[in-house]
Amino acid sequence: MDFRNDVRTWLAEYAPPGGVAQDDPVAMGKAFQAALYDAGFAGITWPAEYGGAGLSSAEQQIFDEEAASSDLPTGIFLIGLGMCGPTLLDLGTHAQKSRYVRPLLRGEEIWCQLFSEPGAGSDVASLQTRAERDGDDWVVSGQKVWTSGAQYADFGALLARTDPGAPKHRGITMFIVDMRAEGVTVRPLRDMTGRAPFNEVFFDRVRVPADAVIGEVDAGWFAAVTMLGHERVSIGGSVRRHYDPLTYANLHALASKLGRAHDPVVSSELVTLYARERALALFNTRLKQEADAGSRPGARGSVAKLAGAQLLWQAVSVAGLIAGPRAVAWEPDDVDSAELAVAINATPASSIAGGTNQIQRGIIGERILGLPKEPQADRGVPFRELRVGTQHQD
Ligand SMILES: Cc1cc2nc3c(=O)[nH]c(=O)nc-3n(C[C@H](O)[C@H](O)[C@H](O)COP(=O)(O)OP(=O)(O)OC[C@H]3O[C@@H](n4cnc5c(N)ncnc54)[C@H](O)[C@@H]3O)c2cc1C
Repeated sequence: MDFRNDVRTWLAEYAPPGGVAQDDPVAMGKAFQAALYDAGFAGITWPAEYGGAGLSSAEQQIFDEEAASSDLPTGIFLIGLGMCGPTLLDLGTHAQKSRYVRPLLRGEEIWCQLFSEPGAGSDVASLQTRAERDGDDWVVSGQKVWTSGAQYADFGALLARTDPGAPKHRGITMFIVDMRAEGVTVRPLRDMTGRAPFNEVFFDRVRVPADAVIGEVDAGWFAAVTMLGHERVSIGGSVRRHYDPLTYANLHALASKLGRAHDPVVSSELVTLYARERALALFNTRLKQEADAGSRPGARGSVAKLAGAQLLWQAVSVAGLIAGPRAVAWEPDDVDSAELAVAINATPASSIAGGTNQIQRGIIGERILGLPKEPQADRGVPFRELRVGTQHQD
């Protein structure tokens, strides 16, 4: 009870409902994360040795419940805290954990995930960015794409090919890369909401020290799968926030405001949305509790990720029923409709980012339902002999 009171009191002072102005989201996010750390609410379940609060998932649950009605400006840390930090805790050396985890929790350093390439998205293991050993360093060259937050990231978790003579899953290594190193170029990509949340990243002979390897050399596929597991839970399990126009609560409020709440079709769709939202929240709570107890979510993270994307699509359809044309066109002073339209335009990305719906279905089919595996014609074939990406196109 004291913990809940502490959280509530702190949030009332630092994160008032309705949010705070975010003219500079990076500066605001860093200041907020630092305050969160000082209050003992950063990395609630992470080990105290590396800067975490060392508490249980019960405290995390309390914090999430209390924070759900606040607009916490922590989006810039989603990848670092949800994916890179947990992977470092799983696979990093003591030196890596001591160096990187605390500054992440204190909001001093931001991380990004450098997996996808123009020819390697769903099939991440087809990646062509290479890292070659040169003395004590590795030298990285290649291109990544759709890298969320690279424009403000300090470090990236990068997958590169270190043994092109091995089959594609066996010659990959994961590295920690300094995003300000010489040879790193970040170029923004704009999406259909008009914003530029992700980037292309080019590596031109970037030197990376040998102690920047996460896990083992050539065993980066294991590190990648570890991070993708955390990613599915962290994306699928994101708490639906108070200010998100596509939550049941906000769509119900909109329906009441526009006099549509008693329309039988609208109320039936709202009931379904509520049930799905609650079921997913409970499922995610269970996954988090199991993860905190030391059990990896495995393929069930894909259930959370798929269900989260499907929930958003259903919310978009309810939003269209309620708001009609206002869901896509609005008067300049109609802020509610403008925010709803941006959320609707951002929804298709939820079925792609972090692995597409089809890929999640494939994982669920194979690893949970025990259906036959997809044929793998490239199994056991050395990577350099495969026709992937730009290989063999000359
Ligand atoms: C908003 C957003 C943020 C992102 N942020 C990052 C990031 O920070 N870091 C990063 O590394 N990446 C990021 N990505 C990239 C994302 O992970 C990839 O876009 C995604 O994995 C899909 O890969 P692709 O775009 O190459 O599509 P493709 O793999 O080319 O897929 C095209 C279509 O074919 C289908 N398909 C492919 N293979 C199969 C199969 N075996 N079975 C059935 N269907 C299949 C796919 O489902 C899809 O519908 C982001 C993407 C988005 C949209």
